[in-house]
Amino acid sequence: MSELAPSFADIEAAHRRLAGVVHRTPVLTSATADAMTGARLFFKCENFQRTGAFKLRGAYNAIARLTAGGGTAGVTAFSSGNHAQAIALAARLLGTRALLVMPQDAPQIKVTATRGYGGEVVFYDRRTEDREAIGRRLADERGLALIPPYDHPDVMAGQGTTAKELFEDAGDLDLLLVPLGGGGLLSGCAVAARALCPGCAVIGVEPLAGDDGQRSLRAGHIVHIDSPDTLADGARTQHLGQYTFPVIRSLVRDIVTVSDAQLVDAMAFFAARMKIIVEPTGALAAAAVFAARVPVRGRRVGIVLSGGNVDPTHFARLVLHAAGKAAVQC
Ligand SMILES: *Cc1c(COP(=O)(O)O)cnc(C)c1O
Repeated sequence: MSELAPSFADIEAAHRRLAGVVHRTPVLTSATADAMTGARLFFKCENFQRTGAFKLRGAYNAIARLTAGGGTAGVTAFSSGNHAQAIALAARLLGTRALLVMPQDAPQIKVTATRGYGGEVVFYDRRTEDREAIGRRLADERGLALIPPYDHPDVMAGQGTTAKELFEDAGDLDLLLVPLGGGGLLSGCAVAARALCPGCAVIGVEPLAGDDGQRSLRAGHIVHIDSPDTLADGARTQHLGQYTFPVIRSLVRDIVTVSDAQLVDAMAFFAARMKIIVEPTGALAAAAVFAARVPVRGRRVGIVLSGGNVDPTHFARLVLHAAGKAAVQC
């Protein structure tokens, strides 16, 4: 594994920086979900995190490290939404400014929230323009520090605090399932798991249409794909990162995929049975368990619910289709 990967000590340091800034989100259980799967499931509810997703952890940790090192003109990021909100809020909390590069078709709720946290938003077309190039150009022109959404050791260390809290609160686990986009969350959680519960198998879950992570793990190198068409807008990444991939390769047991229909079924379950709103990307890991993509019977299983940012009308439309089926399942 690369020496550039965050160590568990980096995750502990991140956790101290985040104390009093991020919520220690609850770990929920459900007798119904346990009965459905024959396992003991522990849901780490980052849908209740400030900004509605875990990304505040990595964003705040990275900007705190940057601002501690002296003056910066501000920060910039390219993001389909949750990273943008996190950067905007973290920058405001740390007294610096944020410029966010977002796709034109980003969910309105995410754009509004980002502006609400004081972030300036610049749009691009995700079919024709390269957001990384735009982000880098703006960073150069305005002297801003670019904070990548996943491929940065400080971001990865911050995201790893999610699993640290889960192990502290739920105890030892046999399996830990984590949603996967570019791998910041998965790599950070895998480093925490290795330190706190070395016997726990860590598994990444990505959308079927965006299976670059699974293909990369099998190929032994980073596989690039076209922008995937999936409801999981937080996992429309085209490739793993140069920092995240080596960590995933050495510490993650497997990567599995779920369909959009399976994501919606899981969202319907959470709304109907656990009374919680989980966004499509946030439901990846749970969907893999509910759809039996990973054997869990008799095991203690940690599941990261990574976010809850979804337009209520969009949520209602999606879940309406699945509601009949969910009622039968329960
Ligand atoms: C960003 C995001 C992910 C994926 O995280 P990576 O670190 O890019 O793998 C998963 N779920 C939600 C809700 C997200 O916002």
